[in-house]
Amino acid sequence: MSFVSDRVKSLPPYLFSEFQRKKKEMEANGVDVIDLGIGAPDLPAPEFVYEKLVEEAKSPLNHRYSIYSGMPSFREAVAAFYKKQYDVALDPETEVLALIGSKEGIANLIQAVANPGDTVIIPDPGYPVYRTAVHLAGGVSVPVPLDVNNGYIPIYDSLSKEEVQQAKLMFLNYPSNPTAATVELETFTEAVSFAEKNNILLVNDAAYDLVTFDDYVSPSVLQAPNAKKHAVEFGSLSKSFNMTGWRIGFAVGNKEVIQALATLKSNIDTSQFIPVQKAAEAALRSDLSAVKENNRIYKRRMEKLHTALNEIGIKTEKPRGTIFVWAEVPDGYTSAGFADKVLEEAGVIVTPGNAFGDNGEGFIRIALSVTEERLDEVIGRLKKLS
Ligand SMILES: *Cc1c(COP(=O)(O)O)cnc(C)c1O
Repeated sequence: MSFVSDRVKSLPPYLFSEFQRKKKEMEANGVDVIDLGIGAPDLPAPEFVYEKLVEEAKSPLNHRYSIYSGMPSFREAVAAFYKKQYDVALDPETEVLALIGSKEGIANLIQAVANPGDTVIIPDPGYPVYRTAVHLAGGVSVPVPLDVNNGYIPIYDSLSKEEVQQAKLMFLNYPSNPTAATVELETFTEAVSFAEKNNILLVNDAAYDLVTFDDYVSPSVLQAPNAKKHAVEFGSLSKSFNMTGWRIGFAVGNKEVIQALATLKSNIDTSQFIPVQKAAEAALRSDLSAVKENNRIYKRRMEKLHTALNEIGIKTEKPRGTIFVWAEVPDGYTSAGFADKVLEEAGVIVTPGNAFGDNGEGFIRIALSVTEERLDEVIGRLKKLS
């Protein structure tokens, strides 16, 4: 007899565990392994943000439980950020909720919206949490293919009539992990219309909303007409402000859904440490110059890698945002086969595209999470691949 539930037992094995095992083994043999598999920034959080954390941590009043839905000042800062960045007005009382990172919010939202057996449309390739969280909620996930020839926007026609009719919820993620795809507002406007027509709740995961290059500004799904009736959006400070370990994010949009998520969460957690919320407020109310500086660093890395990959004959498109390059594997290889070769021959970890869904087959995801000097080393090694 096992104590473990069927749902947990039937979860797919953790994406990176096999590569991490090989990495340890190679490092034990003296190989300098460069890990471009981890989807997290290597840069530090801005100084003014951690100074704020320290200052707020000194106040004993801040050691108490937060209000369940997050401190009012945090929710006001999120609303002010949406007004300034997207010209979207939000009611901080009812349309904004603090999260302990957006991953938590995504998993709990599915529980708050879908009944067991309900269908959830997820992007393929996409962030693996959508699929596993649907599974844990007893739902059925239906992948909508994203294709390079279509700019990685959802191909709704590929879904059957029944799939669309049965769908309760649909996830989008722009700027996208793993494909690094970005969109114009039109894509969100069409998605909201699709959601409205088919009575589906639309969710955009905007974890990389501020991680963009040059003049490109990523839109919010809430800028689309009628969006608040049919959509919510997840925001995170993890990638834009290099705050992955801080665990702070937010959900915004449709009042009924935000409040359902708040009710569910109030039975599970008691929100985030108040000083973390206060520090995140300072980040959201800042002039975003720290984010822009980061983006310049990622852009230089991206351009270096993009140029080198094209020279080597590995096809990639030049992304307008995110911390990833999504590259086609050379002819004759599977994603996993090529990722294995790159690890074994070059000592470089990349993520096979099929780890993000069947439609990711034929690609690898390379994270821009090392310095330019280390990238030079990566490029040198890739050029020597047989
Ligand atoms: C990193 C990531 C998240 C999770 O971010 P947290 O706020 O740190 O939980 C969510 N979605 C995507 C697509 C991500 O890449």
